[in-house]
Amino acid sequence: SKHHFAKTTFGNLKDEDRIFTNIYRDGDPFIEGALKRGDWYRTKDILGMGRDWIINEMKKSGLRGRGGAGFPSGLKWSFMPKKSDGRPHYLVVNADESEPGTCKDREILRHDPHKLVEGCLLAGFAMGANAGYIYCRGEFWYEIIQLQRAVDEAYAKGFLGKNACGSGWNFDLYVHRGVFHLEIDCIFIFCFFSKEGGVMKKEKREDKKKKKGDINNKKKTMSGAGAYICGEETGLIESLEGKQGKPRLKPPFPANVGLYGCPTTVTNVETVAVSPTICRRGADWFASFGRQNNSGTKLFGISGSVNNPCVIEEEMSIPLRELIERHCGGVIGGWDNLLAIIPGGSSVPLLPRNICDDVLMDFDALMKVKSGLGTAAVIVMNKQVDIVRAISRLSSFYRHESCGQCTPCREGARWLSEIMKRMEKGDADYGEITMLLELTRQIEGHTICALGDAAAWPVQGLIRHFRHELVARIDAGKERKRQSHGDFSG
Ligand code: SF4
Repeated sequence: SKHHFAKTTFGNLKDEDRIFTNIYRDGDPFIEGALKRGDWYRTKDILGMGRDWIINEMKKSGLRGRGGAGFPSGLKWSFMPKKSDGRPHYLVVNADESEPGTCKDREILRHDPHKLVEGCLLAGFAMGANAGYIYCRGEFWYEIIQLQRAVDEAYAKGFLGKNACGSGWNFDLYVHRGVFHLEIDCIFIFCFFSKEGGVMKKEKREDKKKKKGDINNKKKTMSGAGAYICGEETGLIESLEGKQGKPRLKPPFPANVGLYGCPTTVTNVETVAVSPTICRRGADWFASFGRQNNSGTKLFGISGSVNNPCVIEEEMSIPLRELIERHCGGVIGGWDNLLAIIPGGSSVPLLPRNICDDVLMDFDALMKVKSGLGTAAVIVMNKQVDIVRAISRLSSFYRHESCGQCTPCREGARWLSEIMKRMEKGDADYGEITMLLELTRQIEGHTICALGDAAAWPVQGLIRHFRHELVARIDAGKERKRQSHGDFSG
């Protein structure tokens, strides 16, 4: 956009510029409501612009992946082979949202699923894929019901399937549930409660295709079982193939060897769901929000010590303080009662109050202060929160979720958690603070996937900004021991 590089203030997004107008639960999430909101409007014409046009719009919009890594989306989509070598191409949407504090994709699945379904068609077409899979975490029972119904509605309207939207392009979309036994339960429940149930329709459709020997329906084994690591792109692919969700070594990258050994792009729910609006309203419109390299609007999920936890769409680069005060009723006890904030889901380092005062919520600004935008899940902690305990709990989480393939992560996450528990109780020694930091450096960057980094960074943030809290905790523990020894001898 011509204007946005000159902008100095961000935020205060107007309603007409919100993409997800229905996530505030005030409208019909299904086809009638979606059509009124402008979804599926002239989708055929967008497809008629061609693959390259869609990818170029994504590139021009400056959209960066909304799943956490922030890789430029148009570029990622363009990595898929242009010419077919006989292998099918696949689109895989990562709806395995399990990062502590993160619940933005959940809101799209619940309240605005048609944005995602339409986005899948556009993204799949742009990548030359005739099939797309939406990998949902098994715990998303309600979300899966909503999404499946939206998919079924799209089929019924001719928006998906053969000659999708009358474009001449065939595109099938499958909702994959991450847990096997839950799926069986789901089917029984849906069949029992709903004659019109989306799942029943889907099952019938799949039965038909199975008879035809459709390769896409051959692998129906389920795995996942709530494992956080299934949200890592290659772990997700493994899980989708029916195996344990253990991340793969890269290269080869999924764009060349992905699902079933075929070219695959794994992308986040929000990233795909904003693509139809970008195509419709134009890349320049999207790029007019936020700052250079950090453009667009974004869903922020704010939780913790705030008066009104919420998921809200706002302009990228909105100041963190403004985001919390305008949309969440402020920090409990007031801004002065703020202790720290984790700005991007549990995998990024926390920020102390003084940095939170004026930091902007975007990739580059948060990188500059040694944190990250991640999934934009803002976890607010006021002075009543035991920050050592909070980070210790995160360490236990990563220890539990490590898939165990690489030693630095498997062993390191365990040691981080053990030492953090001792820190929490005040049983650790002063030298263990340095040992803890050293341990995080041994893990960081030495593992197959980013879970190792995710385990290391919260602890690094704690030591960087709250070393004094750790020292105070050790002091208190030593004092307690001295007193109890004194009492004993007395
Ligand atoms: Fe598994 Fe951890 Fe290695 Fe990732 S970093 S592959 S989760 S052991």
